[in-house]
Amino acid sequence: MAKKDDVCSFCGRTRRDIRFAIQGIGGVMICDECVRSAGEILRENSFTPSTANTNNLTIAKPQEIKAYLDEYVIGQDDAKKYLSVAVYNHYKRLRSNAGRASKDDVEIEKSNIIMVGETGTGKTLLARTIAKLLDVPFTIVDATVLTEAGYVGEDVESILSRLLQAADYDVPRAEQGIVFIDEIDKIARKSDNPSITRDVSGEGVQQGLLKLLEGSIVNVPPQGGRKHPEQKMIAVNTQNILFICGGAFDGIKQKIASRLNSRTVGYTAQKDKAAIDFNNLLQYVAPQDLKSFGLIPEIIGRLPVLTYLQPLDRDALRRILVEPKNSLIKQYSKLFEIDGVELEISDEVIDLIVDKAIEFKVGARGLRSICENILMDKMFEIPSSNTNKLTIDAEYARKQLSDERMTRIQAS
Ligand code: ADP
Repeated sequence: MAKKDDVCSFCGRTRRDIRFAIQGIGGVMICDECVRSAGEILRENSFTPSTANTNNLTIAKPQEIKAYLDEYVIGQDDAKKYLSVAVYNHYKRLRSNAGRASKDDVEIEKSNIIMVGETGTGKTLLARTIAKLLDVPFTIVDATVLTEAGYVGEDVESILSRLLQAADYDVPRAEQGIVFIDEIDKIARKSDNPSITRDVSGEGVQQGLLKLLEGSIVNVPPQGGRKHPEQKMIAVNTQNILFICGGAFDGIKQKIASRLNSRTVGYTAQKDKAAIDFNNLLQYVAPQDLKSFGLIPEIIGRLPVLTYLQPLDRDALRRILVEPKNSLIKQYSKLFEIDGVELEISDEVIDLIVDKAIEFKVGARGLRSICENILMDKMFEIPSSNTNKLTIDAEYARKQLSDERMTRIQAS
């Protein structure tokens, strides 16, 4: 009779009929065939981490989501709150709708988000940070490259091609992903009279986007673009994909102001008007302002969560430099630390960096180039030296930020 460790403990085949076997404790053994079948059973039952399983999603609560955002994004409390609630509801919706058939007929609708705020105030950073927390496929697309189908540019379906790529072509996972559409304001209707010429990069794109936003099954070219007409399409259901849109909406403040002004007529209105903070008008942004800017009502209807981002003041820029978990200063310290060098940057230098960012109107986006210019020479020299401490003082920083270098930063 064959010994116990000569026989697969699962199928009973002996070593003679097995190519490969794995030995277990207590003399048991499993053959390669049984390992393969076990893997398939696991996959079919959705136990692999890559397959979306809505019921098993652990949803962070809104306050937890906001606390996480606080670690990476400075200020923007209103936007963070709106995003946290919208994302929480989105995932609750996934869970609830998945089990709906057996309970009631209440179907929770999707809550896509639109954020209005000057460029470089943290819209993309917020969306990216949320995606990191949720561990779902995430992609950023620029609305300016999109055109109506059949015209030069990218079809709206290319948005989903990118999401599929981000999900390694795992369709169920992509179908629960997040898409950030940047510069949505650039596809605003160009004129109030759409009939004169075809508006292929404005209203035409908005119409195309509509079908993605409202949730439908879209045939997606896996490689994106139109250059591979022979490629096989992949059907993607957008019903559970969360769309977050962002845009600077240059000039929307005037539209908000004129709406607020025209509303405020009469005695009590004077009091209302006094309460309006005309220095920060974005906080009053309303769907009708997006409409007067040139977004079509159907799109606005599909972006029910509307929030705004504050312009960044001195204090915010200063905090951005030092506070976030991966702030620029922490990143540079780490770079030097890898070479065994402790980096010390004085408060005065931090102030100087902020001053320059304000003076040259480069905002938070320019902070990195300013730091890079201050530290470039040291990053070149230090690895070949024996130094173990580097102190950057204001005098040195000022020297590194000559007007010529700053002009280059501004132009970039
Ligand atoms: P937007 O999408 O609004 O144009 P980004 O999110 O791309 O702006 O911001 C550009 C960069 O500026 C970010 O990568 C980040 O380094 C920095 N930044 C902007 N706003 C903030 C903020 N509120 N908190 C922390 N960093 C910020």
